Amino acid sequence: MTANDPHPGAGKVFLVGAGPGDPELLTRKAARVLASADTVVFDHLVGDGVLDLVAAAAERIYVGKEPGRHELPQGEINRLLIDRARAGRCVVRLKGGDPFVFGRGGEEIIDLAAAGVPFEVVPGVTAACAASAYAGIPLTHRGVTRVCTMVSGHLTDGRVDLDWPALARPGQTIVVYMGVAAIGIICERLIAHGLDGDTPAVAIRNASVSSQQTVAGTLAQLPDRVADAGLQAPAIVIIGEVVRLRDRLDWFRR
Ligand code: SAH
Repeated sequence: MTANDPHPGAGKVFLVGAGPGDPELLTRKAARVLASADTVVFDHLVGDGVLDLVAAAAERIYVGKEPGRHELPQGEINRLLIDRARAGRCVVRLKGGDPFVFGRGGEEIIDLAAAGVPFEVVPGVTAACAASAYAGIPLTHRGVTRVCTMVSGHLTDGRVDLDWPALARPGQTIVVYMGVAAIGIICERLIAHGLDGDTPAVAIRNASVSSQQTVAGTLAQLPDRVADAGLQAPAIVIIGEVVRLRDRLDWFRR
């Protein structure tokens, strides 16, 4: 057992945010526990550069989590973490972005807590913050918006279950995770509930890495533009007047 453990011999699980892809966006603590882990359990949104920090001798376990294709069911992931920690290992459960933002990190450590396995949570740069920074779109901006709402646009049975009247209120920034497949439904529902179809909107894929791709338009135009560009997950959608700031602040492409 390594990495800061007060109980040598006992294992521990570090639930670590891997950030949006660029390894330089890891916290120093994340980099340190990754380098000293005995076992690293990771899913598909973790960038290759981040995994390069794992020691050559460490056990690496890929547990998938691509949309609609789970390599290991959640219950088995939870059991794996518990078993490895009980075997005395320093386990890093590595998740894209931040583990507590649409990352199911809470579910995993609820089981750890119930099993009496010690754990720590290391935050990461969530996709909303990465996309905001790397596309030059402040999520809040004085005089423009003081509210930012993060939602999941995940489709369940062909529906997106969100509080549309609340989201359609002007004067806020809406950030949609997992929203590419349902982009048509999302934009149509917002407009139907009164948000102006001319509200600026943008979809950003692979935020923070060199393959970053951005598709912009109005709320009414965005679904067609995303389809025309063939933009795929993982992409995040930002909707609101703050998106206009990108014209002046988009530094990453230059
Ligand atoms: N825990 C993660 C989110 C997991 S949900 C976090 O905090 O970022 C997966 C969704 O996150 C993707 O469908 C996409 O909407 C978003 N996402 C993750 N990484 C991204 C990236 N580099 N660029 C754009 N969106 C990303």
